[in-house]
Amino acid sequence: MDKILVIDDSPVQTGFLCSILQDDYEITACHTAEEGLEEAKEGNYSLILLDVVMPGMDGFQLLQELKAAEVTRYIPVILITSLAAVQYEERGLLLGAVDYVTKPFKPVIIKARVNAHIQLYRYQMQFKEQAMVDGLTGVANRRRYEEGSLARWREATRFGLPFSICMFDIDKFKVYNDTFGHMAGDECLKKVAAALASRIHQGRDLICRFGGEEFQILLYGIKPEDALHAADRLRQAVADLKLPSADRRTAPYVTISVGASSAVPSSMETYNGMIKAADDELYYAKNHGKNMVSFREMPPEKESVPSSVSVTRCVAISCELPRF
Ligand code: GH3
Ligand code: MG
Ligand code: MG
Repeated sequence: MDKILVIDDSPVQTGFLCSILQDDYEITACHTAEEGLEEAKEGNYSLILLDVVMPGMDGFQLLQELKAAEVTRYIPVILITSLAAVQYEERGLLLGAVDYVTKPFKPVIIKARVNAHIQLYRYQMQFKEQAMVDGLTGVANRRRYEEGSLARWREATRFGLPFSICMFDIDKFKVYNDTFGHMAGDECLKKVAAALASRIHQGRDLICRFGGEEFQILLYGIKPEDALHAADRLRQAVADLKLPSADRRTAPYVTISVGASSAVPSSMETYNGMIKAADDELYYAKNHGKNMVSFREMPPEKESVPSSVSVTRCVAISCELPRF
């Protein structure tokens, strides 16, 4: 049930609005603008009904505060007021209210307006969500991932935390599609994405569909040797799905190759270098048997001469993981 916040200094007025809307929505009432502002930031509301004339901070001021804060900016606000003059209505709408209703009002009209604005808000949120998520697999798309990974990169640079980029590419996926059809290929992509996404640390690590049959995972704040083991567990999780492969002579199940790089960043420049390194390692994995993790620990920046780059590769399944 959508939540509505009613902010009005008159308990009679908030009670009246509650009685009109409470069958369809979860209503919370606040009797000062200050209290309303705090509640709006906490409560995950789909709409705010706001009185204009209140002691202390008035409705116009509160509206400005709501539009200035990132967490409340998108919540639609309907002003409900006894100020009928056109300049007040103009002011409210210019400040960002979606609607302006003068008292006395008819309950059916309030209900209809509230329903319409909540519907629009739902579409807007759905649209915002879709713009950030890969439609097939439900994991983040590159846009959301890049925002998140750059924010983590900056934080890692500031606090000297390790940062690992892992690129996952399904092995021989073209043959899979050619053999079982594109629809089956789509199902396979969904299962692989779900297997990877369910095993990363929510809120700390990030996953995205990078394109086609490639996923990228950012492992944040864990040591390189742990990142290598984590990448290998993810590789193994895909093999453990036991999805029949198209070419049973080489591997019975669908597998995935991983190229990864790890560093403790100290400037923005190394980000692109790390992407390139992970890409190169993926290329190595693809050309040395697939279903493996090829991992590179980047040297500290001040020592970064190409010959000193340490490359640690592990062929999973057949070999023990190397010790650092
Ligand atoms: P490799 O082991 O070297 O990675 O070989 P590959 O066949 O996996 O790689 P290649 O790049 O030749 O082919 C990737 C295939 O992925 C081709 C394309 O049809 C398929 N693909 C990309 N996106 C989708 C998708 O959304 N759905 C399906 N079903 N297939 C896709
Ligand atoms: Mg590919
Ligand atoms: Mg592939």
